[in-house]
Amino acid sequence: MEKTALVLGGGGFIGGHMGKKLKEEGFDVRVVDIKPKHEFWDHTIICDEYVVGDLRDPKVVEKIMAPIDGEKPFDEVYQLAADMGGAGYIFTGENDANVMHNSAMINLNVAYEASRQKVKRVFYSSSACMYPEHNQLDPDNPNCEESSAYPANPDSEYGWEKLFSERMFLAFNRNYNLEVRIARFHNIFGPMGTWTGGKEKAPAAMCRKAAETPDGGELEVWGTGQQTRSFLYIDECVEAVLRFMRQENFTGPVNIGSEEMVTINELAQMAISLSGKDIRIKNIDGEEFLGKYGFPCPVGVMGRNSDNTLYHKKMDWSVSQPLKTGMKHTFEWINEQVKALQPQN
Ligand code: NAD
Repeated sequence: MEKTALVLGGGGFIGGHMGKKLKEEGFDVRVVDIKPKHEFWDHTIICDEYVVGDLRDPKVVEKIMAPIDGEKPFDEVYQLAADMGGAGYIFTGENDANVMHNSAMINLNVAYEASRQKVKRVFYSSSACMYPEHNQLDPDNPNCEESSAYPANPDSEYGWEKLFSERMFLAFNRNYNLEVRIARFHNIFGPMGTWTGGKEKAPAAMCRKAAETPDGGELEVWGTGQQTRSFLYIDECVEAVLRFMRQENFTGPVNIGSEEMVTINELAQMAISLSGKDIRIKNIDGEEFLGKYGFPCPVGVMGRNSDNTLYHKKMDWSVSQPLKTGMKHTFEWINEQVKALQPQN
């Protein structure tokens, strides 16, 4: 009989890619999302069954966690549903209550039902946002080693919720033998993800701005642009998750990210180069930003980079694709989206 997988949040970016990969591998895939459909993919590509449901509701979670054939519990459950977005969503403070409440409700329900219905294994997507702010003040030397998580001091409520849920999944593992695998994602990017509307992340935002800006124009970067980050292309993220999910004994938490650290200005410059246009970067901060957007410029911590030592040690495998390759695929896809929205002559 086919193996079965449940992808929670499969109507979103990472979940869509995960569902597609699992289906290609021959899994019988059920996707659940609050969205009526995946924004960019036809359902037949990412799953066998697409269920529209609100995972904050325990009754919904009880139902969707039930075996596909009525008997055999799910082989693999991927918990990727969360109330999230880029800096413009997470760091302004305006969405804190929703972010904490919605994601915690989802995780509480999922941990409980996965354990009660005896699914074989659950993957939980935590985030690098749970690392302490004080270790990420130096853009050149951030510390995101797994063991640096405590004493805890995330810079956002989003990070605090992730930390709580990590601990809850580990507690279910300890007390009820729920098999869990927990990864801390560091900025995952690529095509078929949010690229406009306020919830998009930096790589998509830079690609969109470079695609929209006319030759000779200006591209706006929030803050000084000197803050550093690393970005992992979606295909390598999916591979890293599957390798981690399918090994025995190591629950994590472990980082899944790239170690190629760049400044946000460098990321913007990469998108500009891919556009082939002559575009100037304009950094916007302080009063000018506040006047334009109505809230202080959200930039997050000054430095963040994945530390892949532990992942490599446990899995004997590492991500290796250069950022530029992933940015090329992403720019090309976003450029198509931008063009499709422009009025035809
Ligand atoms: P996404 O926003 O594209 O996908 C999340 C999905 O969850 C969305 O489709 C959304 O509709 C769904 N969802 C939200 N609330 C729901 C609810 N109540 N019921 C059912 N579905 C609901 O985000 P993503 O980038 O695919 O991220 C997936 C996971 O990885 C999230 O847990 C996120 O916190 C984590 N993560 C992502 C990144 C990244 O760079 N993309 C980095 C760190 C952590």
